Amino acid sequence: MIRKFWMLVLLFAAIQLFAEPPKYVFYLIGDGMGKNHVDFAEKFFGGLQMKTFPVKGSLVTASILRTTTDSAAAGTALACGVKTQNGVLGMDADGKKVDSVAVLAKKNGFGVGILGTESPDHATPASFYAHAAKRSDYKEIMEQIPGSNFDLVMGYGMRGAKDPAASEFFRKAGMNVISKEESDFFNLKKLEKPTVVYFSFGYEADRGSSKVRPLSAYVAKSIELLEKVSPKGFFMMVEGAKIDHNAHANDGPGMLLELIEFDRAIGKALEFYKKHPKDTLIVVTADHNTGGIVVTGNVPKSYVNVSGGIARAYGLTENDTPESAAKKLAEKGITPTAVEKDAMVHSIGKLTGSKKAEALNRAARRIIDTRYGITWPTGGHTNEDVYVFAIGKGAENFGIRQENSELGQKLKALYEEGK
Ligand SMILES: [Zn+2]
Repeated sequence: MIRKFWMLVLLFAAIQLFAEPPKYVFYLIGDGMGKNHVDFAEKFFGGLQMKTFPVKGSLVTASILRTTTDSAAAGTALACGVKTQNGVLGMDADGKKVDSVAVLAKKNGFGVGILGTESPDHATPASFYAHAAKRSDYKEIMEQIPGSNFDLVMGYGMRGAKDPAASEFFRKAGMNVISKEESDFFNLKKLEKPTVVYFSFGYEADRGSSKVRPLSAYVAKSIELLEKVSPKGFFMMVEGAKIDHNAHANDGPGMLLELIEFDRAIGKALEFYKKHPKDTLIVVTADHNTGGIVVTGNVPKSYVNVSGGIARAYGLTENDTPESAAKKLAEKGITPTAVEKDAMVHSIGKLTGSKKAEALNRAARRIIDTRYGITWPTGGHTNEDVYVFAIGKGAENFGIRQENSELGQKLKALYEEGK
């Protein structure tokens, strides 16, 4: 009872703090972006936009049972302000559906955009519009996109269905679908109706000559479009999704390239903030730490250049042997020791085909990381705190150590006041 009372007092205080919601809210989430990932990238690239924000806090990422979270439970906490079980989207621990901050913003007449580098039916973006007991029910989740009535939903690819079935579904549901020509999006003058945009794109490390534009370009264009949706302003969520994927693979160069592109997207929000400093709030955080990377050495600039992404890092293929792999590494100035060569032999074992290539590349990454003082304690998620960075109207409320669900509640409180 007493606890409930204090929770009400806190909630009331939060509502008071945000009596007038900011006109523009940016919520940027780096998937798997632990503190060490950020600090490593800052040192490696010589600075990050997010690190220039004046308010710095911390986030406790555990899910309801105080265990290491997945992106669904974490997304639900960040989007809907409730802790839940791993794998669950948009529902509390008792299975009750909960609205997200984006849904509240929409109900209050704000423009809403959800963007990211994964498919829009993947866990983090889905937390903002879907209710599902299983995050892997992609079709069921995808089918909830039109009901959100969000003005813009953008991601790389779609999992719930392939085109033409997916585009037909969205069109029948009354949405504008852009999945064939990317220029159809970049030439838009305004969002005439709810619009869904999806083009397949892999990893920044494999960008090569891909014509699909990076996240920062989408964010810049989306700002321009969302500004015209409502005189009240807009709410935009942006996810840097593939920091997580690269960290799962313990692919340092791939992780850095995703993180710096996510930071460029943050830079677009920051540019907008500088034009509307009194009306804008930007909150940057992560859903959890993936891989737990620890960096103790000085990592040379050439570190990212040797990467070809998760599948084909260092250019090793299934035709390579431990001997040829060792030779290729030596050409890059890293000569494997006898122990490391032995580790390569054993990590391949009896594997063939792409599995063999991935095992070789993983072994090569370990050798290179060892030289530069980089350790990945796990290929999974960890329960360490992640950063919160904030700037703008009400930013000071985020500069503490807080539960992920508390952060979600604070953002929801912005719009609950207006109801
Ligand atoms: Zn993950």
